Amino acid sequence: MPRKMDAAVSYVDIYAGESLKAGHTGSLRGPIVLSFFAALLLISIVFSRARRQRWVAYSATVLVAPALLYAAAKIGIRLELSYALTFLAIYAALRSRMRWKRRVEMVNQETGLAKLRALEARLIRDSVTNGHIVIAKIQNYERVLKTLRADDKGSYVLKLVDRLRAADSNLVVYSDGHHLGWHVANDDTDAVVEHLEGLRAIFAAPIQVGGFSVDVGITFGIAGVEGDPSARLAAAVAAAEETSEAHNPIAIAETGSQTDLLWDISLRARIDDAMEAGEIYCVYQPKIDLQSNAVVGVEALVRWHDPARGFISPMHFIQQCEKAGRMEHLTRYVLQSACSAGQLLHFRGHMISMSVNISATLLSDMRVVGLVRNVLQATRFDPCFLTLEITETARISDHEVAATILNELRSIGVRISMDDFGVGAANYEAFYELPFDEIKIDRMFVANIAKDPKARAIVASIAAMGRGARITVVAEGLENPQDIPMLQEAGCQQVQGFAFSRPLSLSNLLEYQELAPEQTLSNIV
Ligand code: C2E
Ligand code: MG
Ligand code: MG
Repeated sequence: MPRKMDAAVSYVDIYAGESLKAGHTGSLRGPIVLSFFAALLLISIVFSRARRQRWVAYSATVLVAPALLYAAAKIGIRLELSYALTFLAIYAALRSRMRWKRRVEMVNQETGLAKLRALEARLIRDSVTNGHIVIAKIQNYERVLKTLRADDKGSYVLKLVDRLRAADSNLVVYSDGHHLGWHVANDDTDAVVEHLEGLRAIFAAPIQVGGFSVDVGITFGIAGVEGDPSARLAAAVAAAEETSEAHNPIAIAETGSQTDLLWDISLRARIDDAMEAGEIYCVYQPKIDLQSNAVVGVEALVRWHDPARGFISPMHFIQQCEKAGRMEHLTRYVLQSACSAGQLLHFRGHMISMSVNISATLLSDMRVVGLVRNVLQATRFDPCFLTLEITETARISDHEVAATILNELRSIGVRISMDDFGVGAANYEAFYELPFDEIKIDRMFVANIAKDPKARAIVASIAAMGRGARITVVAEGLENPQDIPMLQEAGCQQVQGFAFSRPLSLSNLLEYQELAPEQTLSNIV
């Protein structure tokens, strides 16, 4: 009885009889009402992209229920709403669970601060296109953590955050490992740099944690938020990684040309597809022993053949991968391909080593050890036959951490090589402080060994140094077979270069391997 909640019971029967007589007996069954609400929900999900729009659509869907009930009562149709309401309640419960899980994933358990992914999500959600992303890199973070008790680790980071909030107590800071990040609305890069210089001065005083006084070093990477926030956040992280306390404490990420920017944005999505589609693959360049003239190993070199752009040089896309934060992913893929190829070579009776390039930027935490261990386990490749060539050693920011990581890798049985020795800064320091089993003389010197006495002297001195340190010396980039005796004379043990072979596909390598070693050399020389 509409609007007569307090009517006597007998009226109900009378009213029912009257309405039956009047022919108002229609009813909408539960499944039909359920499908109507399901369709409504689907439309809300499909057509409301932004979060706020979706909330409005959800509220409207819920409000439809009483409105529908009222309208149906008016025209005398009975509505069975229980199915639809149960469905909406289950949907709401599942959505809140998902949101809660996502929120927990986005929070750093130790500090309770949101992770950088949350900053990325916020910038995307709010369509932020102005200001700067700042990433602070806490220097010696891992080393300090090792000395602190478990309960003090979080408070160490929170004390750092307090200092960052010196000028603005409402600043929302996100944290991920040794990175702290935030967004500043200021578009003036110079003003942001000036502010960060001020912050660095505040950090000059030590911090008190768990009864200890801890010296802190902090450096900053900044990137203007133009274009895709994800790419700019990755660029700010990459800039922070390039900083060093002594020489370059504040680094500004380059803007990049428009095409490069577009390339950056699409790269992240495309790199996974490219791996799956086999557009990214490895080629293998033989390493020859100068005494026995036998192929003793191969180096895996990554290649990308993009259907639209053609061959992309590894130099270029590795840099892009780094900016997009996909280096670990690429390294895992290359390691997997190389170890599987190595396993196949061993299976065919070629017991040679496999070298894989590892960017020095991956030596800042222990994750790379797990990565190598997992791939070795999955491919069952013998670790003693795996050599990791550390490229761009000048970029290792903390030698102590890197040494710990490299020693851990060596304990698995893997050999460590220093790539491109002689070019870039700080090579001797890295050579001295890190545990290498092999050194590769950069091709800049090897290629010019016949023409230039200076190059010859450099090759000889690096070879002598390697011999003195009892490690293998490899000359790379030898193009002219006539120069082989000079390398032998200089004391190099192994050589790699176009003089013997260009990098080969796995099937070509298997054919190359079928040749007797002596034949290989006599064919070419
Ligand atoms: P690298 O590790 O020093 O590799 C040797 C480079 O020298 C390769 O170039 C190889 O093709 C080239 N090369 C070898 N012999 C000769 C020669 O006789 N003459 C000349 N002119 N060049 C020669 P590529 O393949 O373009 O690789 C360039 C660099 O890219 C590598 O230098 C390495 O630093 C990096 N790279 C390649 N693959 C990977 C990878 O899977 N991961 C990482 N992190 N870096 C990689
Ligand atoms: Mg290499
Ligand atoms: Mg090299």
